[in-house]
Amino acid sequence: MAKCKKCGTEVASPEKTWTLAPKGRKPMNVGLFKCPNCGGHFRAAI
Ligand SMILES: [Zn+2]
Repeated sequence: MAKCKKCGTEVASPEKTWTLAPKGRKPMNVGLFKCPNCGGHFRAAI
């Protein structure tokens, strides 16, 4: 679940996910979400 930064709509499932692993830090899952309300794409940690 992630919130659109533009309109605040909550999007349940990401279109795409991947793992972001910066050096020396814990890897985390990032998802690419598409907002059904405004059509914008945004990324959020899952
Ligand atoms: Zn939106």
